[in-house]
Amino acid sequence: HAKNKGRATYSFFNNTLKQNAEESSRIEHLLRAALVRNEFELYYQPQIDLKTGNLVGAEALIRWHSSEGMVSPDRFIPIAEKTGLIDPITDWVMTTACTQAKEWQSIIPGIRIAVNLSAVSFRQADFVNKVSEVLEFTQVSPECLELEITETAIMADFKEADRILNRLDELGVNLAIDDFGMGYSSLSYLKRFPVDKLKIDKSFVMKLDQNPDDAAITAAIISMAHAMGTRVLAEGVEEKAHMLFLKERGCEEAQGFYFARPMPAEEFVKWCSQGGTGTAPPVPGLGSLN
Ligand code: C2E
Ligand code: MG
Ligand code: MG
Ligand code: MG
Repeated sequence: HAKNKGRATYSFFNNTLKQNAEESSRIEHLLRAALVRNEFELYYQPQIDLKTGNLVGAEALIRWHSSEGMVSPDRFIPIAEKTGLIDPITDWVMTTACTQAKEWQSIIPGIRIAVNLSAVSFRQADFVNKVSEVLEFTQVSPECLELEITETAIMADFKEADRILNRLDELGVNLAIDDFGMGYSSLSYLKRFPVDKLKIDKSFVMKLDQNPDDAAITAAIISMAHAMGTRVLAEGVEEKAHMLFLKERGCEEAQGFYFARPMPAEEFVKWCSQGGTGTAPPVPGLGSLN
């Protein structure tokens, strides 16, 4: 009986592996054509200042409308990283996000657009020059651009990361550590980096009201970040209770389905002009959270 069960598991495992390898190479093939065919789009998710309820930024999140349907970035970014396709994708994301940031300054003055960086692109030799070229080309002031790097990407080689982060800081762009709490970095290392913001990983935030450990970790991250002079944004805020917990503990910003899902650019503008979804009045001057 045990033997049968073992064999069944084994062949299932093999099939899954084969499927994944096939799927990866199919995605790679489609990915090569996607830039040329203009199949990528940036969605934007509002970032809210918890003290005032104002919209202060938006995170740009890539979407791929492939000929075989929508493919999640969690699925194709790792493949793009392995095949070198990530660099042209990063260039496209940077240019598109900055063009949008420039355009939106007239509607929402000072709005900051956050861009996700793959560790691969971040460590590219001419990456910092590229960022400064894009800023120049799009005429966006550096403080309106935020670059998100994951904690894991930084800790993979923190000396090199430190050097790159310092050069980016000199450009005047904002730096945020994404998915904070998932890696194993110590806050004393992070203290050395010129980062402006920690983004608490959504896995802690999403269960704040059910899991006392997650609540304790979230509260600890907020107070430690504040002790070292760093702002905090909580991602994955889905419930009013989460928002209130974070606000009470002085977490500066929040982002999540409670406020709004990531949206195409036109929808984002409409959402702003309508004063948000009704869960929060996010546009400056429209009121405060309570
Ligand atoms: P991330 O940067 O941590 O982005 C947050 C993810 O959480 C997004 O998923 C967003 O849609 C989702 N999210 C936001 N609010 C909530 C919420 O309240 N509840 C839940 N359950 N989820 C929420 P998405 O858009 O699928 O992106 C997944 C990941 O793909 C991102 O994680 C980021 O690591 C990567 N990614 C997205 N766009 C880009 C890009 O342009 N370049 C690179 N290199 N990576 C990207
Ligand atoms: Mg992010
Ligand atoms: Mg700075
Ligand atoms: Mg994240």
